[in-house]
Amino acid sequence: MTGTTRLLIGGEWRDAADGATREIRCPADGRPVATVPEATADDALDAVRAARVAFDEGPWPHTPAPERAALLHRLADRLTSEKEEVARLEALDTGKRMVEARLDMDDIISVFRHYAGLAQAEAGRVVDAGMPDVVSRVVHEPVGVCSLITPWNYPLLQTSWKVAPALAAGNTFVLKPSELTPSTAVWLVRTLTEEGLPAGVANLVLGAGDRVGPPLTEAPEVDLVSFTGGLVTGRRIMASAAPTVKRIALELGGKNPNILFADADLDAAIDLALTAIFLDSGQVCSAGSRLIVEESIHDEVVDELVARAARIRLGGPDDEQAETGPLISAGHREKVEAYVAAGVAEGAVLRVGGARPEGAAYDAGFYYLPTILDRCTSAMSCVQEESFGPVLTVETFSGEDRDAAEDAAVALANDTVYGLAGAVWTQNAGRAERVAARLRHGTIWINDYHPYVPQAEWGGFKQSGVGRELGLAGLAEYRETKHVWHNTRPAAQHWFGGPQDGQS
Ligand code: NDP
Repeated sequence: MTGTTRLLIGGEWRDAADGATREIRCPADGRPVATVPEATADDALDAVRAARVAFDEGPWPHTPAPERAALLHRLADRLTSEKEEVARLEALDTGKRMVEARLDMDDIISVFRHYAGLAQAEAGRVVDAGMPDVVSRVVHEPVGVCSLITPWNYPLLQTSWKVAPALAAGNTFVLKPSELTPSTAVWLVRTLTEEGLPAGVANLVLGAGDRVGPPLTEAPEVDLVSFTGGLVTGRRIMASAAPTVKRIALELGGKNPNILFADADLDAAIDLALTAIFLDSGQVCSAGSRLIVEESIHDEVVDELVARAARIRLGGPDDEQAETGPLISAGHREKVEAYVAAGVAEGAVLRVGGARPEGAAYDAGFYYLPTILDRCTSAMSCVQEESFGPVLTVETFSGEDRDAAEDAAVALANDTVYGLAGAVWTQNAGRAERVAARLRHGTIWINDYHPYVPQAEWGGFKQSGVGRELGLAGLAEYRETKHVWHNTRPAAQHWFGGPQDGQS
């Protein structure tokens, strides 16, 4: 395991105030993975205060950018040399396949290196005040104390997207990973400490969100809350951060449309439609969970998807042949089951899946078969609500002419409160651009699904989020920007109450 598995508060490794612990088990087979402290709300408040002291009195916010960058590079070096061990921690906590966990580690290494570059690249600028004797400049300063709250699906990757920019900009933070997947967060703060991060800059609180979350989102000592998770929790956090007007960055869910026009390259489109939804058993915020297919190709496309979905091999971290893994918990699987049942009750046609796999290999894990619900409509809850599981809904569109077909597809695709990601498949370049321009989602793939460019931005329209996650294009979310006006030749102006005529 990770060595020390305790809370890190103000540079000290601690047990929970009331001594409570939680056992972490692998969702693929139930094997015990770790026992970790279950923090109290008081522990969380202690962590916030430690981060405040480290920000107000400690050296980190004033540490020169090259030194901050060097620390991020050292962290990336450590992850490179310990990649297999850390990937294994991640795979055991999440149940995901080692092959996926290793790819996540590669992404995380590049995230830390990228922000190391940004720490040094974005200095302030001098602005022309238009007056002699005045030096006017814009400078960037760290926001302060950041509460960083992350989910369980890509635990260390999501964490890196928050911790790396927070540190690059000179902030201090309290990290709260999902209660289900704490192991790589422990590795991260321990490694940062070993690499020389001053005490109190990185604080770690482990525990249930409803217990330790409120101090992290309400305490006046916190300046910024960056949260990735579900929409309902996001709304709650936004409200609790409002009274003290904290900076917030919310990355919430998605109900992402994958549009197939009849003129698409169907081999590629069908193949990537499977990847879009079944990667990591659909536990991906940008999963292509809504297939929106032109009616004329519906049967051909859906028959092929059903046949291939039925052949998908499920397995855990050690199964090299597995194509996708288990769900994260018993509770989450029950949520997915209820979601499918509601879809069928509302009239969706279950074409494949809709059950737990049979066989001893799956008994101790939280597996659920790849599932396709056909003949869905926008009115159905399964089309509107996020399942965060391996469930694809299928809707169809048609139109009398080119414009009508595009209008129909776009209307369906935008008929959701979410706006995270989506895709359009067509071999007509003009159509691809027209449709992409009209989709109200933060990332659009044309004839592809899922790749992301680290240097691009990631964030949602509508209720999928506030602010930019990654922010790889800059550190804006984690910095305040200050204008400094320096009058180098001050002189009295006598505008108000100066000497009267004849009295001087
Ligand atoms: P949750 O919203 O339940 O939880 C996310 C994190 O918030 C967890 O660490 C959780 O703690 C914590 N939390 C829960 N309640 C509170 C609270 N009142 N105050 C502060 N923190 C709290 O989401 P899940 O963990 O179930 O993650 C899955 C969800 O995340 C999906 O719905 C998905 O859409 C979304 N997601 C979005 C992404 C994006 O980029 N837009 C990326 C990945 C996931 P704990 O669970 O430990 O109790």
